[in-house]
Amino acid sequence: MQQAIDKVLADQQFILGSYVRSFENEVEKYLGIKHAIGVSSGSAGLVLALMALGIKKGDEVITTPFSFFATASSIVLVGAKPVFVDIDPRTFNLDPTKIEKAISTKTKAIMPVHLFGQCAEMDRILEIAKKHRLYLIEDAAQAFGAKYKGRFAGTMGDVGVFSFFPSKNLGGYGDGGMLITNDDLLAERIRRLRVHGQSQQYLHQEIGLNSRLDALQAVVLQVKLEYLYGWNEKRRANAQLYKQLFERSSIICPMEWPDNYHIYHQYTIMVNKRDHLKQYLTEQGIGSAIYYPLPLHLQPCFKYLGYEKGDFPIAEKCSEKVISIPIYAELTEAQIKKVAETILQFYQA
Ligand SMILES: *Cc1c(COP(=O)(O)O)cnc(C)c1O
Repeated sequence: MQQAIDKVLADQQFILGSYVRSFENEVEKYLGIKHAIGVSSGSAGLVLALMALGIKKGDEVITTPFSFFATASSIVLVGAKPVFVDIDPRTFNLDPTKIEKAISTKTKAIMPVHLFGQCAEMDRILEIAKKHRLYLIEDAAQAFGAKYKGRFAGTMGDVGVFSFFPSKNLGGYGDGGMLITNDDLLAERIRRLRVHGQSQQYLHQEIGLNSRLDALQAVVLQVKLEYLYGWNEKRRANAQLYKQLFERSSIICPMEWPDNYHIYHQYTIMVNKRDHLKQYLTEQGIGSAIYYPLPLHLQPCFKYLGYEKGDFPIAEKCSEKVISIPIYAELTEAQIKKVAETILQFYQA
C-alpha cells in the first residue's frame, strides 16, 4: 500500500489519469462489465447516474424507504420525486410485489438498493422494469462483489453505483465511488458529466459536476481489490457462525436468499428491546450500530412528499428492531462467540 501511494506522490498525478484508469480496468475485468467510471463518492455516483439517464423535474423514481439517505436525496437533487415502496422484512430489500402499484405515468426508473450486501430480487424487478419501460439503477453501494444468480451486483440494470466509503467492503482511504454500465453512450455521458460536462478541455456540451476519483484512492482500492474475495468469504463464514450461535434463541438472523451470494456488509439482526441491548453492548465494549433508525419517508426534509407514519409499516418496524453487530473479516472465532454470548446473556437476564 505504501509503495502504491509513494508512486502517486512521486508522479503528482492526483486526479483521474492513468492510476484511475488502471483501477477502472481492473474493476471492468473483475465484474465482467464494459465500463467502470471512477467518481468522487457513491452519493455523487447516484446523482450522475440519474443525470446521465436524463431523469429530471417532473419524473418519479421508485425506491426503498429503508436505505442510506443518499438513495433518496440523489433523486431530489436532479429535481425528480422519490416514490417509496415497502420492503421485505426477511431481506430488508424492496418488495417486488408492491412495485407495480407505485408506477404512474411519471415513473422513469426503479432504484433498488442491495442492502447490507445482499441483492434485491432482481429477476422480478428486471421484469417489471422491462414491462413498463423503466430504467433500472442499482444502488450497489454496499454490495461490491455480491452476486445474484451468478451475476454481480451492479451489472444487472442500466447502471450500477458503488461507494468506496472507508467502511464499505471495498473501502478507500477517503471518499470514492464508481459507476458501471455496458451501455457505450451512457458511459460516455457519465465520463463527461463527472468533469463538468466537458467533451474536451474547456468545451462544455452540458452542465456536469466536479466528481472525479482521485489517484490516491484508486491505487489503495486497486491493492485492496485483490483481497476483497477473501474478505467477503471471511464475512460469510462469520455470518454462518453467528447463525449457529443464535439458533433456538429469539434473535432473528439475516436471511440469505437462495441463489444469492451475500457479502454481509452488515450483519443485521432483529431483536426486542433494541435500544437497551445497544446500551448493554456498549457497556461491554462491543461495537454496534443502527442502520437505519428513521426510514427515509419520515425524514424531516422529505415531509413535503406527504408521507406519514404507517405508510410503510415493514420499514418502520425494521427501523425499530434492527441492530448491526461486528462482522468484519479479521474477527476471531472467540470474538464472535463473545459477541453472541453477550447478546444471549442480555436476554436471559
Ligand atoms: C454508502 C452508501 C451510499 C453513499 O455512498 P458515499 O460514498 O458515502 O457517498 C449510497 N447508498 C447506500 C445504500 C450506501 O450504503
